[in-house]
Amino acid sequence: MKITVLGLGYVGLLTAVGLANSGYEIIGLDVDIRKIQMLQNENIYIYEPGLDEFVKENAKKGNLTFDTLENVSCIDSEIVFVAVGTPSQSNGSADLSQLNNALEYVVDRASNPLTIVVKSTVPPGTGKKIKEIYLEKASFSHSYVSNPEFLREGQALKDWFYPDRIVIGGDDREATTLISHLYKDINAPIVITDVTTAEMIKYASNAFLATKISFINEIANLCDLTGANIDGVVQGVSHDPRIGGSFLRAGIGYGGSCFPKDVRALDFISTINGHSFELLKAVINVNNRQRFIPIQILKREMGLLSGKKIAVLGLAFKPNTDDIREAPSIEIINLLIGEGASVKAYDPIVDGTEKNCYCQEAVFTKNIWEAIHEAHAIILTTEWDEFVNLDWFEVFKYTQSPHIIIDGRNVLQPRLIKEIGFKCFGIGRNTHR
Ligand code: NAD
Repeated sequence: MKITVLGLGYVGLLTAVGLANSGYEIIGLDVDIRKIQMLQNENIYIYEPGLDEFVKENAKKGNLTFDTLENVSCIDSEIVFVAVGTPSQSNGSADLSQLNNALEYVVDRASNPLTIVVKSTVPPGTGKKIKEIYLEKASFSHSYVSNPEFLREGQALKDWFYPDRIVIGGDDREATTLISHLYKDINAPIVITDVTTAEMIKYASNAFLATKISFINEIANLCDLTGANIDGVVQGVSHDPRIGGSFLRAGIGYGGSCFPKDVRALDFISTINGHSFELLKAVINVNNRQRFIPIQILKREMGLLSGKKIAVLGLAFKPNTDDIREAPSIEIINLLIGEGASVKAYDPIVDGTEKNCYCQEAVFTKNIWEAIHEAHAIILTTEWDEFVNLDWFEVFKYTQSPHIIIDGRNVLQPRLIKEIGFKCFGIGRNTHR
């Protein structure tokens, strides 16, 4: 069976290669010619552990090819997956322009009835509108299916093969059955529902996880004020199976290409539907506030930051990815620069000089030692193993008084770090006294 995948970012590339691996004949298309040229040479432009080998392996088998949009005059596959970006607009709503362009392209070039499957995260109600705007007027009777994606960057392959669930939304039984059969090799519960519910499941999942993070961050902030320790609190509450232990690490907040934009979009959807989603607004506010904590600690400990040397460890929004979209590190670097600090930043995968980090005055170093050289303070913004397992005795020798470490991810052993001679601050770990 022939399948076209439109949009080859984190989600689309994984979908293309995952389906090719199941034996389908896949053609992957992207508007970005540079990406297509790289893929045609079996190179990938994102960092995702194991994905490059997986792409090479499947490209060699011959059932995975890539092309530019212009080169394809007609789409003769049975199924088209759409995995284009749905970034935030300034009012928080999801920008659906990439999706609209992709759908126009598909409908214009279709040479037979298609099952169009949207993997992109789109606001509830989008599928219904797409049917009205594009599909009802099309030359063929296309079916529409919503199949939101739940992969986590950094472990996308694992999430493809062992997802928690597969959600398929559609009003056409034949189409939903066709799409669920594509996943027959994958052992996971399949939730079949209507399009709008499928779309809402994705937002509800991300909003709930973001809520857990902001909730535990609020408890951590209260720990810092009362003398409790967030590590003990989490250990104590997570034994309750109704609560569980995941997504309860306090820190400088969530970032990335999904949580921030999806939570904002859900807030916007609520507002536009006449409902003020107060809980979600608080989740957003708490998350925005967490990023200020390292700056507040530094100002409290050192006074003016002007001329102070600060090392920021980590640019990616989380370990094992090169994604810096809405990463807390970027905002923290810009806040530091705004305070007049001299900032050096290092990330094991992200080359800050090459990637557009929007931090004009920061220096991005090639290794950790350059970044921390003579630093007055270090802020750990991403919990890469390289940082967690650092020789902190050695680090101490490179830094200068007052030797501050702010562990923005609560992954270091504060007692050990303090014994070395650092002033170590975490989030809610009773380290501020
Ligand atoms: P991305 O920005 O990495 O990739 C989108 C790709 O679509 C880009 O390569 C872009 O060039 C291409 N594109 C844009 N317009 C196009 C068009 N008209 N035709 C063909 N290609 C086009 O985005 P992503 O991170 O892969 O996310 C895609 C969608 O999946 C978003 O809606 C996102 O919210 C959702 N999602 C992302 C993740 C994640 O972890 N990245 C997880 C789950 C869901």
